[in-house]
Amino acid sequence: MHAVGIVAAAGSGLRLGAELPKALVPLGGRPLVCWAVDALRAGGVDEVVVAVPAPQRAAFEAVLPEDVQVVVGGDTRTASVRAALAAAREHADDQGRTAVLVHDAARPLTPPAVVARVLAALADGARAVVPVLPVVDTTVTVDADGVLTADVPRPALRRVQTPQGFDRATLVAAYAVAHGSAAEFTDDASVVRAAGVPVRTVDGDERSAKITVAHDLALAELQVGW
Ligand code: C5P
Repeated sequence: MHAVGIVAAAGSGLRLGAELPKALVPLGGRPLVCWAVDALRAGGVDEVVVAVPAPQRAAFEAVLPEDVQVVVGGDTRTASVRAALAAAREHADDQGRTAVLVHDAARPLTPPAVVARVLAALADGARAVVPVLPVVDTTVTVDADGVLTADVPRPALRRVQTPQGFDRATLVAAYAVAHGSAAEFTDDASVVRAAGVPVRTVDGDERSAKITVAHDLALAELQVGW
């Protein structure tokens, strides 16, 4: 199955406290977005489209490999993925299917094996697949004052990572349904699930953690031995 990777890199990354957009912040001397592109390719993705913030388009083009397609993203992650999806070429296989893997630039150290597991599930017939991890902490709900209201049983809970994989036609159709809806989506599986598509899971990996605050970046630097 031909696989297109989309990297959402158009966020500002304010919580990281850097001057740069988060995806350009260096890890081991290389921008996060370059690591994310490499992870997709190492796992078997054939071509990559990256959604970037309009003001820094040239800066992204300067650091990304020439064969990576760069598009301007939007105000929300959903808008950024939509823009990249519109730019991604279609390369259907014999069954008319193309795989699309949507990845966060903020997950630079995703092992290739995770990408390969997502691709394998798609090749096996899944229309949507996400890597997940169990929840290890006791998990609760609280009221507006922060007072505990209930324990949430853990066995059915999962933390969802990226790359999230889709049959291209399924993702395009789900984004068309979501267009104009007031719902806020924080990932692509939510968009697809809102359109009624079952989403399969595969094992994620702790090393695929998302870099959000400075502490996450410090941990990632330790991982790469910087
Ligand atoms: O802000 P957060 O870390 O949840 O963003 C997840 C990913 O989505 C990041 O890689 C970020 O660059 C991307 N994003 C985007 N366009 C936006 C907002 C976030 O591509 N408007």
